[in-house]
Amino acid sequence: MRLIVVGAGFAGLGAAQTLNRLGADVIVLETAQRAGGRARPIMIDGREVSTGASWLHGINDNALLPLARQAGVMLAPSNDEDYTIFRPTGALTAADYDLADEFEATLDSMLESAPYGTSVASVVDGFRTRFDTAWGVETTDYWVRGMIDEEYTADPGAMDVATTQEGDEPDGGDLLLPEGFGRLIDNLAAGLDIRFGESVARIQYGDGATVTTGANEYRADAVIVTVPLDVPIRFEPDLPDDHRSARTSLAMGQAAKIFLTFDEPFWPSSVIGLTAADNPWVNYYDVSVAGRPTLMGFACGRDVAKIGTDDDAVIDAACRALAVVSGVVPRARAGGIVRWCLARESAYSYVPVGGNPDARATLARPIGETLAFAGEATSSRFPATTHGAYLTGIEAAEQLMRAR
Ligand SMILES: Cc1cc2nc3c(=O)[nH]c(=O)nc-3n(C[C@H](O)[C@H](O)[C@H](O)COP(=O)(O)OP(=O)(O)OC[C@H]3O[C@@H](n4cnc5c(N)ncnc54)[C@H](O)[C@@H]3O)c2cc1C
Repeated sequence: MRLIVVGAGFAGLGAAQTLNRLGADVIVLETAQRAGGRARPIMIDGREVSTGASWLHGINDNALLPLARQAGVMLAPSNDEDYTIFRPTGALTAADYDLADEFEATLDSMLESAPYGTSVASVVDGFRTRFDTAWGVETTDYWVRGMIDEEYTADPGAMDVATTQEGDEPDGGDLLLPEGFGRLIDNLAAGLDIRFGESVARIQYGDGATVTTGANEYRADAVIVTVPLDVPIRFEPDLPDDHRSARTSLAMGQAAKIFLTFDEPFWPSSVIGLTAADNPWVNYYDVSVAGRPTLMGFACGRDVAKIGTDDDAVIDAACRALAVVSGVVPRARAGGIVRWCLARESAYSYVPVGGNPDARATLARPIGETLAFAGEATSSRFPATTHGAYLTGIEAAEQLMRAR
Protein backbone atom coordinates (compact mmCIF):
# COMPACT_ATOMS: atom_id res chain seq x y z
CA MET A 1 0.00 0.00 0.00
CA ARG A 2 1.29 3.47 -0.86
CA LEU A 3 0.73 6.42 1.43
CA ILE A 4 1.66 10.07 1.17
CA VAL A 5 2.41 12.22 4.19
CA VAL A 6 2.26 15.97 3.61
CA GLY A 7 4.74 17.85 5.80
CA ALA A 8 7.92 16.70 7.57
CA GLY A 9 7.44 18.31 10.98
CA PHE A 10 7.08 16.14 14.07
CA ALA A 11 3.56 15.00 13.08
CA GLY A 12 4.69 14.05 9.57
CA LEU A 13 7.81 12.29 10.83
CA GLY A 14 5.79 10.38 13.44
CA ALA A 15 3.23 9.38 10.81
CA ALA A 16 5.82 8.32 8.23
CA GLN A 17 7.87 6.30 10.73
CA THR A 18 4.71 4.52 11.90
CA LEU A 19 3.53 3.76 8.35
CA ASN A 20 6.97 2.35 7.53
CA ARG A 21 6.85 0.18 10.63
CA LEU A 22 3.39 -1.08 9.64
CA GLY A 23 4.69 -2.09 6.23
CA ALA A 24 3.31 0.71 4.01
CA ASP A 25 5.27 2.32 1.19
CA VAL A 26 5.50 5.99 2.22
CA ILE A 27 6.66 9.20 0.66
CA VAL A 28 6.74 12.51 2.50
CA LEU A 29 6.19 15.75 0.56
CA GLU A 30 7.77 18.74 2.25
CA THR A 31 7.81 22.29 0.93
CA ALA A 32 10.98 23.33 2.80
CA GLN A 33 14.47 22.08 2.10
CA ARG A 34 14.83 20.55 5.55
CA ALA A 35 12.69 18.45 7.90
CA GLY A 36 11.52 19.68 11.31
CA GLY A 37 8.83 22.26 10.53
CA ARG A 38 8.26 24.56 13.47
CA ALA A 39 11.25 23.02 15.27
CA ARG A 40 13.76 23.11 12.42
CA PRO A 41 17.22 24.36 13.34
CA ILE A 42 19.32 27.19 11.94
CA MET A 43 22.94 28.17 12.45
CA ILE A 44 23.72 31.41 14.27
CA ASP A 45 27.36 32.36 14.83
CA GLY A 46 28.57 28.82 14.18
CA ARG A 47 26.12 27.07 16.49
CA GLU A 48 22.75 25.43 15.98
CA VAL A 49 19.59 26.90 17.56
CA SER A 50 15.91 26.15 17.07
CA THR A 51 13.79 28.44 14.94
CA GLY A 52 10.69 27.41 16.92
CA ALA A 53 10.36 24.92 19.78
CA SER A 54 13.12 25.01 22.41
CA TRP A 55 11.74 23.01 25.35
CA LEU A 56 10.41 19.54 26.01
CA HIS A 57 7.37 20.18 28.19
CA GLY A 58 5.98 17.84 30.86
CA ILE A 59 8.92 15.47 30.84
CA ASN A 60 7.19 12.75 32.91
CA ASP A 61 4.89 12.14 29.97
CA ASN A 62 6.77 13.33 26.90
CA ALA A 63 7.04 10.80 24.07
CA LEU A 64 9.99 12.66 22.53
CA LEU A 65 12.23 12.61 25.61
CA PRO A 66 13.55 9.03 25.20
CA LEU A 67 14.07 9.67 21.48
CA ALA A 68 15.90 12.94 22.21
CA ARG A 69 18.20 11.12 24.65
CA GLN A 70 18.84 8.39 22.09
CA ALA A 71 19.70 11.01 19.45
CA GLY A 72 22.19 12.72 21.79
CA VAL A 73 20.26 16.00 21.93
CA MET A 74 21.70 18.47 24.44
CA LEU A 75 19.20 18.71 27.34
CA ALA A 76 19.55 21.29 30.09
CA PRO A 77 17.49 22.03 33.20
CA SER A 78 14.99 24.80 32.53
CA ASN A 79 15.81 27.45 35.14
CA ASP A 80 12.70 29.56 34.63
CA GLU A 81 12.58 30.37 38.35
CA ASP A 82 15.98 32.07 38.11
CA TYR A 83 14.89 35.40 36.62
CA THR A 84 15.55 39.13 36.91
CA ILE A 85 13.08 41.66 35.55
CA PHE A 86 14.15 45.14 34.53
CA ARG A 87 12.04 48.27 34.27
CA PRO A 88 13.65 51.04 32.18
CA THR A 89 14.77 52.51 35.54
CA GLY A 90 16.32 49.32 36.94
CA ALA A 91 15.57 45.87 38.37
CA LEU A 92 12.33 45.06 40.17
CA THR A 93 12.46 44.86 43.96
CA ALA A 94 11.71 41.91 46.26
CA ALA A 95 8.26 43.42 46.94
CA ASP A 96 7.59 43.55 43.17
CA TYR A 97 8.42 39.84 42.86
CA ASP A 98 6.13 38.96 45.80
CA LEU A 99 3.36 40.81 44.03
CA ALA A 100 4.12 38.85 40.86
CA ASP A 101 3.41 35.58 42.71
CA GLU A 102 0.08 37.02 43.76
CA PHE A 103 -0.61 38.21 40.21
CA GLU A 104 0.09 34.76 38.78
CA ALA A 105 -2.10 33.00 41.36
CA THR A 106 -4.97 35.44 40.74
CA LEU A 107 -4.62 35.12 36.96
CA ASP A 108 -4.62 31.31 37.13
CA SER A 109 -7.66 31.09 39.36
CA MET A 110 -9.65 33.71 37.41
CA LEU A 111 -8.88 31.98 34.10
CA GLU A 112 -9.81 28.60 35.52
CA SER A 113 -13.23 29.77 36.70
CA ALA A 114 -14.14 31.95 33.68
CA PRO A 115 -16.76 30.46 31.33
CA TYR A 116 -15.90 29.57 27.73
CA GLY A 117 -16.68 32.46 25.39
CA THR A 118 -14.83 34.96 27.60
CA SER A 119 -11.70 36.66 26.29
CA VAL A 120 -8.53 36.39 28.37
CA ALA A 121 -8.18 40.20 28.17
CA SER A 122 -11.54 40.74 29.84
CA VAL A 123 -10.56 38.39 32.67
CA VAL A 124 -7.31 40.32 33.20
CA ASP A 125 -9.12 43.68 33.04
CA GLY A 126 -11.42 42.46 35.80
CA PHE A 127 -8.68 42.31 38.42
CA ARG A 128 -5.64 44.29 37.22
CA THR A 129 -6.39 47.70 38.79
CA ARG A 130 -4.76 46.82 42.10
CA PHE A 131 -1.58 45.69 40.29
CA ASP A 132 -1.58 48.73 37.98
CA THR A 133 -1.65 50.93 41.07
CA ALA A 134 1.20 49.10 42.80
CA TRP A 135 3.44 48.49 39.77
CA GLY A 136 2.30 50.87 37.05
CA VAL A 137 0.48 49.74 33.90
CA GLU A 138 3.68 48.91 31.99
CA THR A 139 4.86 46.37 34.56
CA THR A 140 1.43 44.71 34.81
CA ASP A 141 1.45 44.51 31.02
CA TYR A 142 4.87 42.86 31.14
CA TRP A 143 3.50 40.01 33.24
CA VAL A 144 0.48 39.61 30.96
CA ARG A 145 2.73 39.59 27.89
CA GLY A 146 5.02 36.99 29.53
CA MET A 147 2.31 34.74 30.96
CA ILE A 148 -0.25 34.94 28.13
CA ASP A 149 1.14 36.25 24.83
CA GLU A 150 4.41 34.34 25.17
CA GLU A 151 2.78 31.11 26.31
CA TYR A 152 0.01 31.00 23.69
CA THR A 153 1.46 33.30 20.96
CA ALA A 154 -1.91 35.06 20.90
CA ASP A 155 -3.32 38.47 21.77
CA PRO A 156 -5.31 38.14 25.05
CA GLY A 157 -8.13 40.14 23.41
CA ALA A 158 -8.49 37.51 20.68
CA MET A 159 -8.05 34.43 22.87
CA ASP A 160 -10.83 32.48 24.55
CA VAL A 161 -10.19 31.39 28.15
CA ALA A 162 -10.78 27.86 26.79
CA THR A 163 -7.21 27.99 25.41
CA THR A 164 -5.83 28.18 28.94
CA GLN A 165 -7.99 25.30 30.16
CA GLU A 166 -7.44 22.73 27.42
CA GLY A 167 -4.90 19.92 27.17
CA ASP A 168 -3.31 17.76 29.86
CA GLU A 169 -1.47 19.49 32.70
CA PRO A 170 2.27 19.14 31.88
CA ASP A 171 3.83 16.84 34.47
CA GLY A 172 7.46 16.85 35.64
CA GLY A 173 8.64 20.26 34.45
CA ASP A 174 10.50 21.14 31.27
CA LEU A 175 13.90 20.56 29.72
CA LEU A 176 15.63 23.21 27.62
CA LEU A 177 17.28 22.22 24.34
CA PRO A 178 19.94 24.96 23.89
CA GLU A 179 20.92 23.51 20.51
CA GLY A 180 17.36 22.74 19.47
CA PHE A 181 15.87 19.54 18.07
CA GLY A 182 18.21 19.10 15.07
CA ARG A 183 19.71 15.73 16.00
CA LEU A 184 16.33 14.28 16.93
CA ILE A 185 14.77 15.49 13.68
CA ASP A 186 17.65 14.02 11.67
CA ASN A 187 17.25 10.67 13.48
CA LEU A 188 13.51 10.58 12.79
CA ALA A 189 13.98 11.59 9.16
CA ALA A 190 16.73 9.03 8.50
CA GLY A 191 15.58 6.30 6.15
CA LEU A 192 12.40 8.11 5.10
CA ASP A 193 11.71 9.01 1.48
CA ILE A 194 11.25 12.77 1.91
CA ARG A 195 10.82 14.86 -1.24
CA PHE A 196 11.94 18.37 -0.33
CA GLY A 197 10.81 21.49 -2.18
CA GLU A 198 7.42 19.91 -2.90
CA SER A 199 4.63 22.32 -1.98
CA VAL A 200 1.27 20.55 -2.02
CA ALA A 201 -1.48 22.69 -3.56
CA ARG A 202 -4.32 20.25 -4.23
CA ILE A 203 -5.53 16.89 -2.89
CA GLN A 204 -8.20 14.92 -4.71
CA TYR A 205 -9.52 12.11 -2.55
CA GLY A 206 -12.16 9.41 -2.67
CA ASP A 207 -11.12 6.26 -4.48
CA GLY A 208 -7.46 6.62 -3.56
CA ALA A 209 -5.88 10.07 -3.66
CA THR A 210 -4.02 12.33 -6.07
CA VAL A 211 -1.72 14.92 -4.57
CA THR A 212 -0.59 17.80 -6.75
CA THR A 213 2.44 19.97 -6.04
CA GLY A 214 3.79 22.84 -8.14
CA ALA A 215 5.73 20.43 -10.33
CA ASN A 216 4.43 16.91 -9.82
CA GLU A 217 1.39 14.72 -9.32
CA TYR A 218 1.54 11.78 -6.91
CA ARG A 219 -0.96 8.94 -6.68
CA ALA A 220 -1.52 7.00 -3.43
CA ASP A 221 -4.02 4.85 -1.56
CA ALA A 222 -4.33 7.41 1.23
CA VAL A 223 -2.88 10.71 2.46
CA ILE A 224 -2.06 12.14 5.89
CA VAL A 225 -1.93 15.95 5.95
CA THR A 226 0.13 17.51 8.74
CA VAL A 227 0.55 21.13 7.61
CA PRO A 228 -0.44 24.02 9.92
CA LEU A 229 -4.15 24.90 9.88
CA ASP A 230 -3.77 28.03 7.79
CA VAL A 231 -1.83 26.50 4.89
CA PRO A 232 -4.14 26.79 1.87
CA ILE A 233 -4.51 23.39 0.21
CA ARG A 234 -7.48 22.79 -2.12
CA PHE A 235 -9.42 19.62 -1.33
CA GLU A 236 -11.60 17.95 -3.95
CA PRO A 237 -14.30 17.17 -2.95
CA ASP A 238 -14.47 19.93 -0.36
CA LEU A 239 -13.93 18.80 3.24
CA PRO A 240 -17.08 17.77 5.18
CA ASP A 241 -18.96 20.56 7.02
CA ASP A 242 -17.97 19.46 10.54
CA HIS A 243 -14.32 19.44 9.52
CA ARG A 244 -14.51 22.86 7.91
CA SER A 245 -16.29 24.41 10.88
CA ALA A 246 -13.74 22.81 13.24
CA ARG A 247 -11.00 24.64 11.35
CA THR A 248 -12.67 27.98 11.91
CA SER A 249 -13.06 27.17 15.63
CA LEU A 250 -9.30 27.49 16.00
CA ALA A 251 -6.90 30.27 15.08
CA MET A 252 -3.14 30.59 14.63
CA GLY A 253 -0.86 32.76 16.73
CA GLN A 254 2.32 34.61 15.90
CA ALA A 255 5.75 34.76 17.47
CA ALA A 256 9.29 35.83 16.75
CA LYS A 257 12.62 34.85 18.21
CA ILE A 258 15.86 36.81 18.39
CA PHE A 259 19.22 35.18 18.99
CA LEU A 260 22.15 37.29 20.16
CA THR A 261 25.64 35.93 20.80
CA PHE A 262 28.26 37.77 22.85
CA ASP A 263 31.93 37.40 23.77
CA GLU A 264 31.08 37.46 27.47
CA PRO A 265 27.83 36.92 29.35
CA PHE A 266 26.61 40.09 31.10
CA TRP A 267 23.27 38.86 32.48
CA PRO A 268 22.65 37.93 36.13
CA SER A 269 20.20 35.02 35.73
CA SER A 270 18.93 32.33 33.38
CA VAL A 271 15.96 34.48 32.34
CA ILE A 272 15.86 38.25 32.01
CA GLY A 273 12.67 40.19 31.42
CA LEU A 274 12.30 43.75 30.11
CA THR A 275 9.09 45.60 30.93
CA ALA A 276 9.51 48.55 28.50
CA ALA A 277 6.36 48.70 26.38
CA ASP A 278 8.12 49.68 23.14
CA ASN A 279 10.57 46.75 23.36
CA PRO A 280 9.02 43.67 21.70
CA TRP A 281 11.46 41.13 23.24
CA VAL A 282 9.75 40.54 26.57
CA ASN A 283 11.90 37.71 27.94
CA TYR A 284 15.37 36.47 27.11
CA TYR A 285 16.56 32.96 27.95
CA ASP A 286 20.18 31.93 28.38
CA VAL A 287 20.87 29.26 25.74
CA SER A 288 24.65 29.48 25.96
CA VAL A 289 26.74 26.50 25.00
CA ALA A 290 30.44 26.16 25.78
CA GLY A 291 32.28 29.18 24.47
CA ARG A 292 29.17 30.83 23.03
CA PRO A 293 27.23 33.06 25.45
CA THR A 294 23.82 33.32 23.75
CA LEU A 295 20.49 34.90 24.56
CA MET A 296 17.22 33.82 22.95
CA GLY A 297 14.44 36.42 23.14
CA PHE A 298 10.74 36.06 22.42
CA ALA A 299 8.17 38.49 21.02
CA CYS A 300 4.70 36.97 20.77
CA GLY A 301 1.13 37.92 19.90
CA ARG A 302 0.74 41.72 19.84
CA ASP A 303 4.48 42.30 20.19
CA VAL A 304 5.29 40.83 16.78
CA ALA A 305 3.85 43.98 15.15
CA LYS A 306 6.49 46.07 16.98
CA ILE A 307 9.39 44.34 15.21
CA GLY A 308 10.79 46.14 12.20
CA THR A 309 11.76 44.48 8.95
CA ASP A 310 15.44 45.50 8.87
CA ASP A 311 17.17 42.77 10.90
CA ASP A 312 20.34 44.80 11.61
CA ALA A 313 18.25 47.67 12.98
CA VAL A 314 16.16 45.23 15.07
CA ILE A 315 19.34 43.71 16.56
CA ASP A 316 20.75 47.18 17.34
CA ALA A 317 17.51 48.20 19.04
CA ALA A 318 17.44 44.96 21.05
CA CYS A 319 21.02 45.58 22.28
CA ARG A 320 20.13 49.17 23.24
CA ALA A 321 17.14 47.89 25.26
CA LEU A 322 19.44 45.37 26.99
CA ALA A 323 21.63 48.22 28.29
CA VAL A 324 19.36 48.32 31.34
CA VAL A 325 20.87 44.99 32.47
CA SER A 326 24.48 46.09 32.95
CA GLY A 327 24.42 49.84 32.37
CA VAL A 328 26.13 49.69 28.97
CA VAL A 329 24.85 48.73 25.52
CA PRO A 330 26.17 45.19 24.95
CA ARG A 331 27.93 44.47 21.64
CA ALA A 332 26.49 41.39 19.96
CA ARG A 333 28.98 39.21 18.05
CA ALA A 334 26.13 38.03 15.84
CA GLY A 335 22.38 37.93 15.77
CA GLY A 336 19.48 36.37 13.96
CA ILE A 337 15.72 36.80 13.87
CA VAL A 338 13.05 34.23 13.07
CA ARG A 339 9.48 35.30 12.41
CA TRP A 340 6.47 33.00 12.76
CA CYS A 341 3.69 35.31 11.68
CA LEU A 342 0.43 35.13 9.82
CA ALA A 343 1.88 36.60 6.64
CA ARG A 344 4.42 33.73 6.42
CA GLU A 345 4.32 30.60 8.59
CA SER A 346 2.27 31.07 11.76
CA ALA A 347 3.26 29.92 15.26
CA TYR A 348 0.68 27.54 16.72
CA SER A 349 -3.04 27.10 17.29
CA TYR A 350 -5.24 28.58 19.98
CA VAL A 351 -8.98 28.87 20.62
CA PRO A 352 -10.23 32.31 19.53
CA VAL A 353 -13.05 33.99 21.48
CA GLY A 354 -16.18 31.88 20.89
CA GLY A 355 -14.15 29.04 19.37
CA ASN A 356 -14.33 25.45 20.48
CA PRO A 357 -11.49 23.26 21.80
CA ASP A 358 -13.47 20.13 20.80
CA ALA A 359 -12.58 21.12 17.24
CA ARG A 360 -9.23 19.41 17.76
CA ALA A 361 -10.90 16.00 18.17
CA THR A 362 -13.01 16.58 15.04
CA LEU A 363 -9.90 17.47 13.04
CA ALA A 364 -8.20 14.27 14.22
CA ARG A 365 -10.99 12.02 12.85
CA PRO A 366 -10.06 10.52 9.45
CA ILE A 367 -12.30 11.33 6.49
CA GLY A 368 -13.17 7.93 5.09
CA GLU A 369 -10.29 5.60 4.36
CA THR A 370 -8.21 7.92 2.23
CA LEU A 371 -7.64 11.16 4.10
CA ALA A 372 -6.50 11.94 7.63
CA PHE A 373 -5.11 14.99 9.41
CA ALA A 374 -2.44 15.26 12.07
CA GLY A 375 -0.36 18.05 13.60
CA GLU A 376 -0.30 20.09 16.77
CA ALA A 377 -3.74 21.65 16.10
CA THR A 378 -5.34 18.19 16.08
CA SER A 379 -3.99 17.24 19.52
CA SER A 380 -6.55 17.45 22.33
CA ARG A 381 -4.02 16.32 24.96
CA PHE A 382 -0.93 18.32 24.04
CA PRO A 383 -1.85 21.08 21.55
CA ALA A 384 0.86 23.53 20.46
CA THR A 385 3.73 21.18 21.32
CA THR A 386 6.27 19.01 19.53
CA HIS A 387 5.40 15.82 21.41
CA GLY A 388 1.67 16.46 20.89
CA ALA A 389 2.27 16.82 17.14
CA TYR A 390 4.41 13.68 17.04
CA LEU A 391 1.72 11.60 18.80
CA THR A 392 -1.02 12.82 16.42
CA GLY A 393 1.09 11.62 13.49
CA ILE A 394 1.42 8.16 15.02
CA GLU A 395 -2.30 8.02 15.81
CA ALA A 396 -3.37 9.15 12.32
CA ALA A 397 -1.12 6.52 10.72
CA GLU A 398 -2.41 3.75 12.96
CA GLN A 399 -6.05 4.75 12.39
CA LEU A 400 -5.68 4.82 8.60
CA MET A 401 -3.91 1.47 8.52
CA ARG A 402 -6.57 -0.09 10.78
CA ALA A 403 -9.33 1.25 8.53
CA ARG A 404 -7.89 -0.34 5.40
C1 LIG B 1 8.27 30.19 18.31
C2 LIG B 1 7.76 28.82 18.69
C3 LIG B 1 8.11 28.27 19.91
C4 LIG B 1 7.66 27.00 20.27
N1 LIG B 1 8.09 26.45 21.45
C5 LIG B 1 7.80 25.17 21.72
C6 LIG B 1 8.44 24.50 22.79
O1 LIG B 1 9.30 25.06 23.46
N2 LIG B 1 8.11 23.21 23.02
C7 LIG B 1 7.21 22.52 22.24
O2 LIG B 1 6.97 21.34 22.49
N3 LIG B 1 6.60 23.14 21.20
C8 LIG B 1 6.88 24.43 20.92
N4 LIG B 1 6.35 25.03 19.82
C9 LIG B 1 5.31 24.33 19.06
C10 LIG B 1 5.90 23.23 18.17
O3 LIG B 1 7.01 23.73 17.49
C11 LIG B 1 4.83 22.79 17.19
O4 LIG B 1 3.64 22.48 17.87
C12 LIG B 1 5.24 21.55 16.40
O5 LIG B 1 6.58 21.62 15.96
C13 LIG B 1 4.30 21.40 15.24
O6 LIG B 1 4.60 20.23 14.51
P1 LIG B 1 3.66 19.80 13.30
O7 LIG B 1 4.26 18.60 12.70
O8 LIG B 1 2.25 19.79 13.74
O9 LIG B 1 3.74 21.02 12.27
P2 LIG B 1 5.01 21.64 11.54
O10 LIG B 1 6.21 21.50 12.38
O11 LIG B 1 4.60 23.01 11.12
O12 LIG B 1 5.19 20.71 10.27
C14 LIG B 1 4.43 20.92 9.10
C15 LIG B 1 5.36 20.79 7.91
O13 LIG B 1 4.58 20.98 6.73
C16 LIG B 1 5.35 21.72 5.79
N5 LIG B 1 4.41 22.33 4.84
C17 LIG B 1 3.67 23.45 5.00
N6 LIG B 1 2.93 23.68 3.91
C18 LIG B 1 3.17 22.69 3.05
C19 LIG B 1 2.70 22.35 1.75
N7 LIG B 1 1.79 23.09 1.12
N8 LIG B 1 3.20 21.22 1.15
C20 LIG B 1 4.14 20.45 1.77
N9 LIG B 1 4.62 20.72 3.00
C21 LIG B 1 4.14 21.81 3.64
C22 LIG B 1 6.10 22.72 6.66
O14 LIG B 1 7.24 23.23 5.99
C23 LIG B 1 6.46 21.86 7.87
O15 LIG B 1 7.71 21.24 7.71
C24 LIG B 1 6.81 26.28 19.41
C25 LIG B 1 6.46 26.83 18.17
C26 LIG B 1 6.94 28.09 17.81
C27 LIG B 1 6.57 28.64 16.46
